[in-house]
Amino acid sequence: MKEIKHNWTKEEILDIHNTPLMELLYRAASVHREYHDPNKVQVSTLLSIKTGGCPEDCGYCPQAARYHTDIEGNDLMSVSQVKAQAKRAKASGSSRVCMGAAWRNVKDGPEFEQVLEMVRTINKLDMEVCCTLGMITENQAKRLAEAGLYAYNHNLDTSEDYYKDVISTRAFQDRLDTIENVRKSNVTVCSGGIIGMGEKLEDRAGMLVALATLDPQPESVPINALVAVEGTPMEEMEPVPIWDMIRMVATARIVMPKTQVRLSAGRTEMSKEGQAMCFFAGANSIFAGDKLLTTPNPDVNEDMEMFRLLGLKPQHAFEKLPQPKTVEQAESQYEAKGEKPKWTRPGHQIERNEMAKLKAKSQS
Ligand code: SF4
Repeated sequence: MKEIKHNWTKEEILDIHNTPLMELLYRAASVHREYHDPNKVQVSTLLSIKTGGCPEDCGYCPQAARYHTDIEGNDLMSVSQVKAQAKRAKASGSSRVCMGAAWRNVKDGPEFEQVLEMVRTINKLDMEVCCTLGMITENQAKRLAEAGLYAYNHNLDTSEDYYKDVISTRAFQDRLDTIENVRKSNVTVCSGGIIGMGEKLEDRAGMLVALATLDPQPESVPINALVAVEGTPMEEMEPVPIWDMIRMVATARIVMPKTQVRLSAGRTEMSKEGQAMCFFAGANSIFAGDKLLTTPNPDVNEDMEMFRLLGLKPQHAFEKLPQPKTVEQAESQYEAKGEKPKWTRPGHQIERNEMAKLKAKSQS
């Protein structure tokens, strides 16, 4: 195995991305075989543990309180509800549970304590536990690590340049700061993005530069195709062509060879043939369950039929890295600090987000 390259430039990544497709696939598949078992794909389950009512203005997200979408909001789930869902996910072939809460950032207090207990509970089921809870501090990352968290998800979403056209309530640097906080614990990093939000090819390459130049590179990179939801500022975006997903997956695989590349949102729009090409190009994880947080996803049985057709096997938990140990709350070394970090804000507005907000107000 060659040494991992960290000094990728946008031009180099664009060159790879724009290689004739057959050559790109051959190269990506070769890298994939060198670092991974090409017949294994991890099945992960995404659980929305707290849905809707988010104060952020991410232009793609139906959970932002300011837009008028038809998702049903929910308070934080109980530990027993989460445990039951995790057991069900495990029984249907998932080896990882990712819990998502629609928060701007984690606040120390009873809700965070409840999430820590969820992490302990799922880790004890011998499943990889991932959380996506918004921005976190170093102390919070360490507390999650102590509870047995395997991965923290914090997507970069897009390039630094285009970020300003998607989200106005936080800055790209805030994302990098949270990733750095996670790196100060022994929790692995899951960070990727979304294509189909009106970005240029240069932005897709820019996002991959931002991820691939992290040292170490993220252990996990989800590649999402936008699911345009009515009521969000991006409701009228065109669906992402399958060829764009294949190229994005292949490029991510080449520039981040060790990473688990995850085929995420947008799979309902993809044929089995399209998904098979993504697996050939280096994708080695899917999300199972009929919902991805709030957007539609293929049925588990359909996925298992696809695995059978393609001869794929689900990857077991902790095949890549050992299982973290869970420390019980009574033995914890860390205390809640009640931190209120000052996050940087670009202090700007995005016209299409403002328009969607006004439209939502007029409908309420
Ligand atoms: S993507 Fe996350 S942070 Fe952004 S609005 Fe949705 S729930 Fe909130």
